[in-house]
Amino acid sequence: MRAIRKSTHLSRQLLAPNAVRHSSTLASSIKPLTSVLIANRGEIALRVGRTASEYGIRTTTLYTDPDARSQHALSSPYAINLGDPTAYLDGDRIIQIAKDQGCQGIHPGYGFLSENPVFARKCTEAGLTFIGPPWQAIEAMGSKSESKDIMIAAGVPCIPGYHGSNQDPEHLKKEAAKIGYPVLLKAVKGGGGKGMRIVKNPEEFFDQLASAKSEARNSFGDEVMLVEKYITTPRHIEVQVFADKHGNCVALGERDCSIQRRHQKILEESPAPHLKEEIRQDIWKKARNAALAVKYEGAGTVEFIFDNDSGEFFFMEMNARLQVEHPVTEMVTGEDLVRWQLIVAEGGRLPLTQQEIEQRISERGAAIEARIYAENPDMNFIPDSGLLLHLRTPQPTATVRIDAGFVAGDEVSSHYDPMIAKLIVQGPTREAAIQKLRAALEEYEVAGPITNIEFLKRLCVSPDFVAGDVETGYIQKHHAELFTPEPLAPEVYAQAALGLALQEISSTRRDPFTSPPITATGFGAGYQQREYNLIDIPADGKGDTTSTPVQIRQTAPSKFDIAVGDQIYHDVISTLDAANTLSTFYPHTRLSTTFIRDDNHLTLFQQGKQHRLQLAMPKWAEKALGIKDVTNSVLAPMPCKVLRVEISEGDTVKKDQPLVVIESMKMETVIRSPHDGVIARIVHGKGDLCKAGTALVEFVEEKKEV
Ligand code: ADP
Ligand code: ADP
Ligand code: MG
Repeated sequence: MRAIRKSTHLSRQLLAPNAVRHSSTLASSIKPLTSVLIANRGEIALRVGRTASEYGIRTTTLYTDPDARSQHALSSPYAINLGDPTAYLDGDRIIQIAKDQGCQGIHPGYGFLSENPVFARKCTEAGLTFIGPPWQAIEAMGSKSESKDIMIAAGVPCIPGYHGSNQDPEHLKKEAAKIGYPVLLKAVKGGGGKGMRIVKNPEEFFDQLASAKSEARNSFGDEVMLVEKYITTPRHIEVQVFADKHGNCVALGERDCSIQRRHQKILEESPAPHLKEEIRQDIWKKARNAALAVKYEGAGTVEFIFDNDSGEFFFMEMNARLQVEHPVTEMVTGEDLVRWQLIVAEGGRLPLTQQEIEQRISERGAAIEARIYAENPDMNFIPDSGLLLHLRTPQPTATVRIDAGFVAGDEVSSHYDPMIAKLIVQGPTREAAIQKLRAALEEYEVAGPITNIEFLKRLCVSPDFVAGDVETGYIQKHHAELFTPEPLAPEVYAQAALGLALQEISSTRRDPFTSPPITATGFGAGYQQREYNLIDIPADGKGDTTSTPVQIRQTAPSKFDIAVGDQIYHDVISTLDAANTLSTFYPHTRLSTTFIRDDNHLTLFQQGKQHRLQLAMPKWAEKALGIKDVTNSVLAPMPCKVLRVEISEGDTVKKDQPLVVIESMKMETVIRSPHDGVIARIVHGKGDLCKAGTALVEFVEEKKEV
């Protein structure tokens, strides 16, 4: 709740000028909304609720069983339980609830029902205001193929490609040859980067087609594909547009969203770096034309792919909703876009003209957003989930904003998108904004699920990014620089040992099974001596897992001698407070560390960096707990649902052969065989829900030659 309350102050700042303007645009045709249902969850549900409350609009919030204690569910006195985790998609039920609750409108947020024309139409037919574009416009933009036909007719440039109805694989391949390789296959109903495959040459065409179709079928229930030219050094530049019911349409500047992984954005900024002014004006104009061509109303984003080599740009798709990255635009325009959505839905006029917007943008500098995800960048950005053991955010100010859906103690559920929060900063220049983002990330502490925060910090200092040389392949291209791990300083081990020792000393528990492994105890006058074996957990799950022994000896209540390998520290003064802050005075330096322990996993935050260590268990404990017994199995790497099993019991498999396809947080992952072998048992079949670490498949044990 803390982040929410703080940012109210921010949105009030954003709102001041436009609140005044709105009253002057009030006319008799305006139907004020007094009660709205928010058909979404998490951060966006809270975001919409915040603006609605600010204007005295009553909000009804929805939740599901796994979301019962989530922040959005708790944010309104009117909260309805839908039960099943997938029920956010149950449009008919949601419309009925809105009517029962006496709501006049529904805000769909983004994702879920926001771009569903059937839902938007049913809302309208039920007499509810759908806070979004008319359903006809959503329908026109909902298909990546039809929308391109409309754009071509409206004079908006499109990427050369085939987006027709002949889906015969041979025909699609012929079209690919006409376009010229490399080509991109895209699901016409696609979104969120799914159902998309690059095809580099004709040989791999059919394989990639099958794979794109399978993903599209699972994600959107539709496998119609389009083929288009694959731009090799593209940038993703999009334009925020807004239209009202009176024929006005403006562009609220552009956003560069080129820093992506899996075709999904992680950093978004405005203005786009190094964009020539005449191109900027042209791209805004084309975006407005795109919106006008479908009689658009409300907030929308026209996405373009910008060819860095030729300076040309092409229409990619229009997202007929508010977007995840809308705060970037709010920062550079000083406007509240949810408020604009409400004004348009009520029948009001756009609060600013194009000229006024340009004036604002020229005065307000640059803004950048980082999406904070529970995911592991070092394991190909695989999503993570679990309890947020510790969460500390930077202090929100007028130029540092946090849109979050979680607080410490909340669970990041594997049922939904793993985005934890968005951090948005503004500065007078791009350089200043990036510097501020880096500083804010250094203050952002999350323990529990693995996050991309450390990776984002490295992006912020990546020289080409800082220079504005961005492209959608940035992360692959700068892989070596972005993923090389740094060796841990001995002080990190020393701080971890101090944290463990001080927690133990202050605890009264002496249960041999729950206290940490102790290899030496008791030393005169009631003072303690310990040895801990600590492993610097390899971020990619592979690599060196040898442990570093750390000896620590207490010489006075808060005084210790510590040895980390050859490095000896004498007379170290250290205390641990109730907020898990470890304050340590070494002879030559002072360190302040947040120390979080979860069983054998230790998370430390110090000097703007996170470190994850594992307390190695003594050999006897590993045996007693049976940890070594599962090595003959392939384990689920994360909580997941089994989509398909690709093998049968008794099959002989080769290393890297696909065994099982799982789905977690809307992403498909193929689990491949770690080695050659024979399948003994399929432990979990199609449709099974598995926890992380559950055995999926067991191999026949190899007979060891003695
Ligand atoms: P953007 O708004 O920047 O285009 P995305 O396209 O990645 O962002 O997705 C927008 C939102 O919609 C995200 O919250 C994402 O999790 C959600 N989303 C994407 N695809 C789906 C889907 N198939 N079903 C439900 N939600 C989705
Ligand atoms: P989605 O609906 O999943 O957001 P988009 O069509 O918007 O799909 O494309 C998502 C991302 O894929 C873009 O931001 C860009 O990085 C990449 N992309 C899309 N089309 C092309 C293309 N023709 N050439 C190269 N990259 C592309
Ligand atoms: Mg897109």
